[in-house]
Amino acid sequence: MRKDENFSKWFDEVIFNAEIVDNRYPIKGFAVYKGWGTRIVRKIIEMLEERLEETGHTPMLFPVAISEDSFRKEAEHIKGFMSEVFWITHAGERELKKRMLLRPTSETAMYPMFAQWIRSHADLPLKIFQSVFVYRYETKATRPLFRMREFLWNEAHTVHRSWDEAEKQVNEAIKIYDELFKRLGLAYYILRRPEFDKFAGAVYSIAFDAWNPDGRINQIGTVHNLGENFSRAFNITYEDPSGKQRYAYQTCYGFGISRTLAAIISQHGDDHGLVLLPEIAPIQIVIVPIPYKGFEDKIGDYAREVHERLRSAGFRTYLDETDRTPGEKYYCWEMFGVPVRVEIGPRDLEKRHITICERVNLQRIAVPLDDAVKAIEDVFMRIAEELRKRSLSTLKEMTVNAEDMNSLKEAIKSRKIARICWCGSTECAERIAEESGGEIRGYRIDIEEKPEHPCIVCGERAERVVYVARAY
Ligand SMILES: [Zn+2]
Repeated sequence: MRKDENFSKWFDEVIFNAEIVDNRYPIKGFAVYKGWGTRIVRKIIEMLEERLEETGHTPMLFPVAISEDSFRKEAEHIKGFMSEVFWITHAGERELKKRMLLRPTSETAMYPMFAQWIRSHADLPLKIFQSVFVYRYETKATRPLFRMREFLWNEAHTVHRSWDEAEKQVNEAIKIYDELFKRLGLAYYILRRPEFDKFAGAVYSIAFDAWNPDGRINQIGTVHNLGENFSRAFNITYEDPSGKQRYAYQTCYGFGISRTLAAIISQHGDDHGLVLLPEIAPIQIVIVPIPYKGFEDKIGDYAREVHERLRSAGFRTYLDETDRTPGEKYYCWEMFGVPVRVEIGPRDLEKRHITICERVNLQRIAVPLDDAVKAIEDVFMRIAEELRKRSLSTLKEMTVNAEDMNSLKEAIKSRKIARICWCGSTECAERIAEESGGEIRGYRIDIEEKPEHPCIVCGERAERVVYVARAY
């Protein structure tokens, strides 16, 4: 199973064989998260929600149904989402007097409630989040985890007294996401989206664009400053200390859980299957006894002792005592991406050693059982570091400078991310999309990049260095 030969086929096989997702559910764009996939998803949600709570966000759960009246309140927002909405129109055979919709995102579910909750400056800031499914009738081809009609995300929504406080919140959100994606070993660009591609209703949008082996960008997170756009539409006001009524300022940000899982699989996986970071692996260590004639019982006993030792040290472990051959067990657990395999053979038994095999490079080392906990902790740290480094160097290799339209076309065709100079006009952006097939994703906010050339389309003075790629 070669990842670099046919990424799409490789991806489908991995998510099926590693029991991540079963895409055979009989509704297009909807799929079943299976056991291994669900456990990984829970770990990611746990990591994210813990950080959100530490930074003062409160968990809540809003209804999936939104009233049409509420949905229609913010003009730009309706324009952006109308064509993708799933409507609830009937109760049994009866048509509903007022139809409802399934949330495509939750601004219009939450903000009527915010208007009731917020009275005075003392009620601010309000910072909440939820991890839920959202529903969008995607018209582009659906892909499991990447582009679904039902997908899993975490959305946070905040309300503030001033533009400056909202700006600070945007920065905090970027930091939270950046730290978490880095903990997951992912590599990406943090880009400010061009005006024509910002979130419907936002003043501006920042996005985390992760690389993918097929050259198509995978947007794993977004952060939006909403300014007063929604507070004016939903009448979210507060009384300031001098007794004056003011409109609040808002932000929202979404962490694509399905897409983050897709990025983990795609960036770290190899020809043997999944590769998981120890932090999110449902099983961190699998112990495989290697039976040897005449020593079966002794090896079994020793394997159980090793298992008990590692389990009580706090690792998530599994002792594979099924009747499969060791080779079959290796093959299976490599597919599932378990970070460390411990092999127990006659020589390990004799010396009271264990043999550690790392999933990332499939190298083996032998260590005394008494040193095993420390040795595995070291291996875990190395794995995380190694995956992060590898992923980052792939992102660098994938990014190329394009100084004219031909080299841009060539770059997109060969599945690269192109770095170009752009004048900022919508016309030039449209020509780039038509001729190259790639989209302008935006400019970097972590570093300042000065254009070295004129706009590659019109030859006028370039305003920004921007990144162009195909996207999911
Ligand atoms: Zn131009």
